[in-house]
Amino acid sequence: MQEIIDAIENRSGREVFESLEIPSTYRAVTVHKSDVGMFEGMKFQDKDPRTSMHIDEVPVPELVAGEALIAVMASSINYNTVWTSIFEPVSTFGFLEKYAKANPNGQRHDLPYHIIGSDAAGVVLRVGPGVNAFAPGDRVVAHCLSVELESPMGHNDTMMDPEQRIWGFETNFGGLAEFAVVKANQLMPKPEHLTWEEAASPGLVNSTAYRQLVSRNGAGMKQGDIVLIWGASGGLGGYATQYTLNGGGIPVCVVSSPEKAQICRDMGAKHVIDRSVENYKFWKDPHTQDPKEWQRFGKKIRELTGGEDPDIVFEHPGRETFGASVYVTKRGGTIATCASTTGFMHEYDNRYLWMNLKRIVGSHFANYREAYEANRLIAKGMIHPTLSKSFPLEEAGQAAFEVHQNQHQGKVGVLCLAPKAGLGVIDGELRSRTLSEINRFTNS
Ligand code: NAP
Repeated sequence: MQEIIDAIENRSGREVFESLEIPSTYRAVTVHKSDVGMFEGMKFQDKDPRTSMHIDEVPVPELVAGEALIAVMASSINYNTVWTSIFEPVSTFGFLEKYAKANPNGQRHDLPYHIIGSDAAGVVLRVGPGVNAFAPGDRVVAHCLSVELESPMGHNDTMMDPEQRIWGFETNFGGLAEFAVVKANQLMPKPEHLTWEEAASPGLVNSTAYRQLVSRNGAGMKQGDIVLIWGASGGLGGYATQYTLNGGGIPVCVVSSPEKAQICRDMGAKHVIDRSVENYKFWKDPHTQDPKEWQRFGKKIRELTGGEDPDIVFEHPGRETFGASVYVTKRGGTIATCASTTGFMHEYDNRYLWMNLKRIVGSHFANYREAYEANRLIAKGMIHPTLSKSFPLEEAGQAAFEVHQNQHQGKVGVLCLAPKAGLGVIDGELRSRTLSEINRFTNS
């Protein structure tokens, strides 16, 4: 493994990488099928990723056509790492079994262990037949859209492919490991002003926020739009806030602490609501919402915006906030949703939706083009990583625990083959121009 790390650090050429011997096994973060029932009967918050996430030595999988094996220098924790590790809302082994049934190439993925992780920055080691766009030695980041594209349905928008999967969540051989197997059309150039861990961290959430907020497939934000952003300094929200500002919109950021409020202000947001100070109680009890609290929330937004309601609500908390989100959206506005962290059975008063011609748009990850555009903005130094902290691979469980407990800011990174943080920068000039933005979440 050291030879591979040396070749990466020396920025060796393609011939060196092609001549490197690939070890037969590698270290990976896994969950085990035999652990699936371990949290039964426990409360959501008490299910602890540190007890279900393991480090295993696993065999290097065979590559098939269109795939690449990458040496992963760094990865990151996503909320899907949390879902997988606590087997909620379903065990991800069901996805692997389904993949095996759907496709002979999927059979390799159906194993008693699941190598998780949906982000990676690293270097291509090997490519399978039919891969021309990337070669050994290329420095890359991976987005997490895995598609087969054998059906016509996915050819306008690859997210519509019926065989669309999230890599490292619905497939095996993910990014929280020393090696990863990806489809070559998941690869994009590594933004070279960033360290490995910074470059790995935007991937999933940055692409998702781009589609949900900016793309015509999502809310299609335009200049001047007021955008209400839940969790505005979190994984998705940290990018939604940046996209709103970058695209000439006006963010109204909702967060839960003074530190998070300060991060939003530092990003350039003028309107911030600390929900823990305001103490909104949208639910009187687990079955009954309180429209008076929706009104109090809407009034606060109008106070900040000079009387305007949000053109777009960037939704992901789900059940807890969705009734309020539908209520406060401007007449004709859009509620764009990609998740339901607090519960997926949403309730809202439909009169506010139809009488005011609002629309709800479902959004999920991003197609290759959208992921590429989102990565391009990172590479140009126009959108910045939101990395606050990095952990070694062995402590990925602790990293996921902190995200599960909402103790984190922005994104949490994981060093895989990178021997320490801070490596991998080539474009020092762009880095020095953008350093204060890159470091914004680090000292929070
Ligand atoms: P995250 O880093 O944990 O950020 C979510 C933020 O939401 C939290 O930091 C918190 O911010 C806020 N929040 C949590 N509970 C809340 C509540 N009850 N009311 C209001 N705000 C609340 O997670 P993330 O990476 O942004 O992901 C968020 C969700 O989106 C997860 O469920 C994830 O699985 C999903 N997701 C879906 C996709 C997709 O493609 N469909 C992609 C990425 C993520 P404050 O405490 O500061 O308010």
